[in-house]
Amino acid sequence: MHEFAWIADLRRRTPPHPRVPIGIGDDAALLDLSATGHALVTTDMLMEGVDFVLPGTPWPPPGREHLADIRRATPEEAGRKALAVNLSDIAAMAGIPRAAFVSVALPRTGGAELAQGLWAGLAPLAEEFDVALAGGDTNSWDGPLVISITVVGEPGPRGAVRRNGARPGDVLFATGEFGGSLVDWHLTFTPRVREALALAELCDLHALIDTSDGLARDLGHICDESGVGVKLFADRIPIRPAARTGASSDRTSLDRALGDGEDFELLFAVTAVEAEKVEALSQSDKIPCRLTRIGGFHENPARSLVFVDGREVLLENRGWEHFLSDR
Ligand SMILES: [Mg+2]
Repeated sequence: MHEFAWIADLRRRTPPHPRVPIGIGDDAALLDLSATGHALVTTDMLMEGVDFVLPGTPWPPPGREHLADIRRATPEEAGRKALAVNLSDIAAMAGIPRAAFVSVALPRTGGAELAQGLWAGLAPLAEEFDVALAGGDTNSWDGPLVISITVVGEPGPRGAVRRNGARPGDVLFATGEFGGSLVDWHLTFTPRVREALALAELCDLHALIDTSDGLARDLGHICDESGVGVKLFADRIPIRPAARTGASSDRTSLDRALGDGEDFELLFAVTAVEAEKVEALSQSDKIPCRLTRIGGFHENPARSLVFVDGREVLLENRGWEHFLSDR
């Protein structure tokens, strides 16, 4: 299918949205956003061979033999993931996603069928979160699939929550579980948009981030931006069953939980008083996921992992490899 035909097809299949008076089909989109006049904007580019591997792609490339039996993503899963990671970034600001712009570089061979699959995967997720598909760009080239999505959102009623507000004495919480995401989770997760909004509504979040690069690294971003250090309780970190299955003596399930990445969970900081509220919430059904107290922030900039027997190691001294790339 010619690329213009594809856009015409998308335009037909994209329902009109009250928030998008001018959408696909003109030179630019016109969006109706919040009365506050503030927009949250995030963008993320996914590349085949880095963020997913499609069926039929020669794999593994030299040097990545350890990833030989990775589960292939369907085009639908790749499209869904490309939108989901962007929604996760809006969640990480406690925002409400509103509109998405989808740009693809399609391989010349099989590109049209691939494009249909991508759309079939991302459209239902957009609908689930009431995100208007408002525009994009389509190109073909001799390279592999690249899909870049930009999502525009609005801050939630309590405003955007940044990474930089953690204070000494604050408690660190995490949603969900960590590690082993490569088996399945990175293609199937539901972004924590509802959870982030509910948390921001019910308690005073000092800092918030989503975990794409791994628990340890993303926690490092909170520490860097907030100017604090952290103690992470090794025995409290919720480990995904897939991380236990794939664990080995040189890479334990804990290493995997800390470093695998692509968990797309939330890490957040609250005062010790608010922490009691969060623990109560985790027993209620107001937040539809597991909430675990996994550490505490302090003034000294050190980031360490504390074991039940009192042993303490600096997080920087533990090695981990990331997903398909070596980001
Ligand atoms: Mg993020």
